[in-house]
Amino acid sequence: MERLDPHPLTGDLFPSPVPPGGGWPGDPATTATPVAGTAAAVRRLAAGSTGVPELQARVSVCRACPRLVRWREEVARSGRRASFAHQPYWGRPGPSFGDPGAEVLLVGLAPAANGTNRTGRMFTGDSSGDFLYAALHRTGYAALPTSVASGDGQALAGIRIVAAVRCAPPNNAPTPAEKETCSAWLQRDLELAAPRLRAILCLGAIGWGAAVAAARGLGWTVPSPRPRFGHAAEVPLQTPEGRGIRLVGCYHVSPHNTFTGRLTPGMLDDVLRSVRGGGGVAP
Ligand code: SF4
Repeated sequence: MERLDPHPLTGDLFPSPVPPGGGWPGDPATTATPVAGTAAAVRRLAAGSTGVPELQARVSVCRACPRLVRWREEVARSGRRASFAHQPYWGRPGPSFGDPGAEVLLVGLAPAANGTNRTGRMFTGDSSGDFLYAALHRTGYAALPTSVASGDGQALAGIRIVAAVRCAPPNNAPTPAEKETCSAWLQRDLELAAPRLRAILCLGAIGWGAAVAAARGLGWTVPSPRPRFGHAAEVPLQTPEGRGIRLVGCYHVSPHNTFTGRLTPGMLDDVLRSVRGGGGVAP
């Protein structure tokens, strides 16, 4: 018999991985959402997504990378961290989270096995997310200073979080082929955001590289030679329609950087404030 565990906030029972359209808070998919099983299908379904909600739904059920699908589901079923052993695990790709009409896209690397892969929300449920959401709240983007579980009331305004790769990879290391396959989702995210987009904030060199590749794939003008990642590095991009978009780098919010002081709360706040436009929620 299938094992069911209670959602940490609602108490509703779910199997792991969580089935699409099964009532998980914030699940963008339904049982009718088309599933990409190959790289070609990712490209087709990404290009055919008419808006952010449809794109998120399709991302959240993707099965195009066999190694990552196997691993994310294995962690969800039998590889849970002891402290979360009695919680259901999302076990699916992480859809983007935040304001669908955002002027800023924040590009991460990939979901964490016991973070997004458990909670179903970007940067939620681990120390990286604790650091990031606290900063997003201080700088007026987030309704709450924490993001602990889907259904907790967290909401973002003016910013949307995406990632270079949407499935948790073993050892946080996706292969070049997996990055390439997943890049079609990110490219479509940029394309859908473009009419209002002012800045792309990249956490780490992999997010930076993925954003540069996506911009090039869309035919945007990217400075040559290829711009190099650095904390607070900034280069101008331009869409074929002439819209200028800032590409900004920031050290990743991983414990490796935040526990060592390489990235401090003040440094992250400064970068977030530098890309801030109008609107947002009051801290
Ligand atoms: S990494 Fe991306 S392309 Fe690969 S299965 Fe996950 S969502 Fe699909």
